[in-house]
Amino acid sequence: MTRSISIFGATGSIGDSTLDLIRGDRANWNVVALSANCSAEKLAALAKEFDAEIAVVGDEGCLPELRAHLSGTAIEAAGGEQALCDAARRPADLTVAAIVGCAGLAPTMAAIEQGRTVALANKESLVSAGHVMTAKVAQYGATLLPVDSEHNAIFQCLQGNDLEDVRWITLTASGGPLRTKTLAELDAVTPAQAVAHPNWSMGAKISVDSATMFNKGLEFIEAFHLFPVGLDRLRIVVHPQSVIHSMVEYRDGSTLAQLGPSDMRVPIASALAWPRRMDTACKPLDLPAIGELTFFAPDEERFPATKLAREAAHTGGAAPAVLNAANEVAVAAFLAGQIRFTQISAIVARTLEHYAPTAPQSLDDVLAVDAEARVHAGAMMELA
Ligand code: NDP
Ligand code: MG
Repeated sequence: MTRSISIFGATGSIGDSTLDLIRGDRANWNVVALSANCSAEKLAALAKEFDAEIAVVGDEGCLPELRAHLSGTAIEAAGGEQALCDAARRPADLTVAAIVGCAGLAPTMAAIEQGRTVALANKESLVSAGHVMTAKVAQYGATLLPVDSEHNAIFQCLQGNDLEDVRWITLTASGGPLRTKTLAELDAVTPAQAVAHPNWSMGAKISVDSATMFNKGLEFIEAFHLFPVGLDRLRIVVHPQSVIHSMVEYRDGSTLAQLGPSDMRVPIASALAWPRRMDTACKPLDLPAIGELTFFAPDEERFPATKLAREAAHTGGAAPAVLNAANEVAVAAFLAGQIRFTQISAIVARTLEHYAPTAPQSLDDVLAVDAEARVHAGAMMELA
């Protein structure tokens, strides 16, 4: 049976992997909306290839270019934040949330408020909105299918089990490209070194997050909201081969793990086909070739991000949104060559110390905290 799909962040790394799967299963999908920020030419090409109903750029200034590339077709073109939310309200059997950063929050919430099934890659939106988002999911009967490989693994390991029987949820972390660097070496890391991930090919922001371990910190908070077993039952282990994507240990001593190649098409396919399975062209796991799986405790001296995230999760309220916003600002500044690698966590820590707003109760509150935290993080950067 044909299903309809909208993909927000269609021109990114997750967008590419999702559309690759749809391309291989074309007859079964009807594409409703595709979005980008400003990659108008690529978005128009995808909209034509997949015969989308509408293409939307988040940056309204890029709408004329999108219109020009779509002229002579029946595909609608739109631009701006409101247009993203309007497109997210269009009926679709599945909405893929793959915009990077808190910019994805409003369209994701718009889909949730329609009671949609949302395949969630955009972890920053859940970290920032937290209970505001999960309460809307419950209120509108929406479904969140985790696409982040760790959370997708946990989701799979929990099938047929009860959260009450969970002893531990263990998130695995590759440790990123800088895992073995000393603090002095970390201080001199360039953006090119930080984005060169050994196992995964991803967008620039999440690649830097993997290098700082903020990715795992954000994922810790993401897991807390997706799988409410309590913060004390969540832990992180470094596993450089990225073969085990996460694990669930039950109270009888059984640990279930999900394994697979380091290819985001696997967790995305699991969300696309859920609750069934679909074929993918991914390379099968070759365990003899991999040979060894190793595990280490995280080193929070060199990589304080997971500690900062855990503390923000314990503080609750607005702290995770502040942490996320400060990290987004710091990562952008690092990629632009304005700050050193080790300053990213320092700026996040200082922003959290200096800005402690009250807990957000609505989407508007979350967006206000996010905007203000960015200003505070900018000020901390001036001091850095
Ligand atoms: P990319 O940077 O590759 O792509 C980001 C997408 O979001 C692009 O389509 C981009 O459009 C769009 N976008 C960027 N800024 C805005 C904005 N302000 N408003 C609207 N759209 C915007 O990111 P990834 O695909 O790597 O990551 C997407 C999300 O998925 C992130 O939250 C990431 O943490 C998460 N994720 C990614 C994984 C991966 O393997 N890549 C793994 C697990 C989670 P444009 O092309 O025009 O810039
Ligand atoms: Mg992940």
